[in-house]
Amino acid sequence: MKTIRLKPGKDRSLLRRHPWVFDGAIAKGGADAGETVRVESHEGQFLAWGAYSPASRIRVRVWSFDETQRMDAAFLRTLLARAIALRARLGIQSDGLRLVHGESDGLPGLIVDRYGDTLVAQFTACGVERWKNVLADALIELTGCPRLYERSDTSSRKLEGLAEATGWLRGCGDTALVLNEHGWRLGLDIAHGHKTGYYLDQRDSRQVCYQYTQRLGFAQVLNCFSYTGGFTVAALAGGAGHVTSIDSSGPALEQAAANVALNGFEATRATFMDADVNASLRRFISEGRQFDAIVLDPPKLAPTAAHAERAARAYKDINRLAFKLLTPGGVLFTFSCSGGIGVELFHKIVASAGLDAGVDGAILQRLGGACDHPMTVNFPEGEYLKGLVVMKNTGFNP
Ligand code: SAH
Repeated sequence: MKTIRLKPGKDRSLLRRHPWVFDGAIAKGGADAGETVRVESHEGQFLAWGAYSPASRIRVRVWSFDETQRMDAAFLRTLLARAIALRARLGIQSDGLRLVHGESDGLPGLIVDRYGDTLVAQFTACGVERWKNVLADALIELTGCPRLYERSDTSSRKLEGLAEATGWLRGCGDTALVLNEHGWRLGLDIAHGHKTGYYLDQRDSRQVCYQYTQRLGFAQVLNCFSYTGGFTVAALAGGAGHVTSIDSSGPALEQAAANVALNGFEATRATFMDADVNASLRRFISEGRQFDAIVLDPPKLAPTAAHAERAARAYKDINRLAFKLLTPGGVLFTFSCSGGIGVELFHKIVASAGLDAGVDGAILQRLGGACDHPMTVNFPEGEYLKGLVVMKNTGFNP
């Protein structure tokens, strides 16, 4: 077993059970890609077992903080079984679920989503890459699903020195699937869609959007960054008069239109625009258009805190434009999936966007990722998705 010795004082984060060791913390030691290593303090005290990533700044990802734990197939199976059992206990009313959420489930670099009886996995670090076959077999056995598709085409794999890998790992079948979420039918493609095919983390927020639409009876809804139209279908199901969906991806919009039809909504209730959101919002303002509800769910603009300042300006800009486009009493559903933008900062950005737009807003509700995307207390990086439901002009300037 190879040993990684840390520099003096660099044991603090592991002692707080944070699961990463950065390259700069290491005094000596090395191993092959994905090999299990013993991490010790400068004084030689055991800290953790982890997987070595020779090319990554995150040089070791922790498997276990228990010195007596053997790192083997049985241990990985136990971790998977625990993650899967948790989802079963949560009783989520959808056949689209995140079964494994990386570090938060003790499986650094592994994402597994389940769509009906099809599993889709992303192996984004050397450790899980090395154990891929063991993990694939255990996943099939533990879930009873007949097939597992690999979508290891994330940019983070490059940082690990790993090439892209996609295709069926176990079983085979059509990659175009239909998911049932809150009773809505949503088509997706696990081979060509974003992430593993769909944004499961927004499941609860789509339900929230549906509920507010029902309560407040929005006539005109604008869904920005619509992807395959999850929020579009939610608003239409809630009784929205008309939903305009904007995305810069043609295939995503085609799927969105198909999803509207799949749920039996009249085509006249939906408009799809293959366009840039920022430019479209500006155009709507110049045309004097107004909306009763706007969804803003942009892609990750700040992957890390280093990008936060520029991203903050971009978030503020689209939120300011959206506030202007809302009718008085209209509702903004606004999100950030940037790990580099914390909850507080996001709140500030939205508040200052409202100020710049010259409107008051009341926060009706705070939103976050769905509970099958857990955030563990020792891994703050796991908290990325946050959202606010804000009603325009409820305060001093009605
Ligand atoms: N709300 C969606 C997920 C949105 S993901 C859901 O619930 O499923 C972000 C989307 O933004 C992607 O579909 C991407 O194609 C789109 N996008 C990225 N940059 C854009 C831009 N400048 N203008 C319009 N769409 C953009």
